Amino acid sequence: MTAFEAVASALRGLPRGALSLIYPPTCSGCGGATADPGALCPACWSGLRLIEEPLCQRFGTPFAVDLGVGPLLSPRAIAEPPVFARARAVALYDEVARRLVHRLKYEDRLDLAGAMGRMMAASGRVLIADAECVVPVPLHRWRLWRRRFNQAALLGRVIAGGAGLPFEPSALVRVRATRSQVGLSRAARAENLSGAFRVAEAQAHRIRGRRVLLIDDVMTTGATGNAAARALLRGGAASVDLLTFALVGDTAG
Ligand SMILES: [Zn+2]
Repeated sequence: MTAFEAVASALRGLPRGALSLIYPPTCSGCGGATADPGALCPACWSGLRLIEEPLCQRFGTPFAVDLGVGPLLSPRAIAEPPVFARARAVALYDEVARRLVHRLKYEDRLDLAGAMGRMMAASGRVLIADAECVVPVPLHRWRLWRRRFNQAALLGRVIAGGAGLPFEPSALVRVRATRSQVGLSRAARAENLSGAFRVAEAQAHRIRGRRVLLIDDVMTTGATGNAAARALLRGGAASVDLLTFALVGDTAG
């Protein structure tokens, strides 16, 4: 099954009846009319740049050409191996993916979290098969208070529920409110995030010795995933994989 087929069938499997009573069937990407709630209209669907094999086995970035040998690693994965074992994402972060992520972040759209979470479950099925619990990247409580909900937790709940895995939204805490990562260099992002996360002592038993699937909406440089993964490993997690909806950047080479 290709990434495209997996993601398409994940969207087709959405429950209809209950949702359509609450939300009129509109496209999750653009708000235009569509046949099924939580689905994408044909224009948005074809605008989503789904990530397909071949890809870097560590960062999940797609390769422009199929080299026909595996396992594949991008030059970056060799030069700067990430703290997390593997990252996977549904789509590249360009127009349609950006719109979906933005709507999830700033609009209270539970139907959208369902659709995006199911697409992530399809793209991350290999990671989910190895995972023992699901942990979302937390927001700092000030930011959570301003925004009311954590989009990574909304996605994580859908993914954990679908896979029958324990969902642990309070295992990891953000101890420092970091300034926005926008416009920072890769090194500055890593510095901005160092020590930003830790495992809550009272919750450490929930991840100790377990293979953790970490969830976020977007992977930019991987700095957030690295900082969160480092905290989870220090807190006793056996391993950490990262699953996001979108991935910033183009191809791995
Ligand atoms: Zn649309």
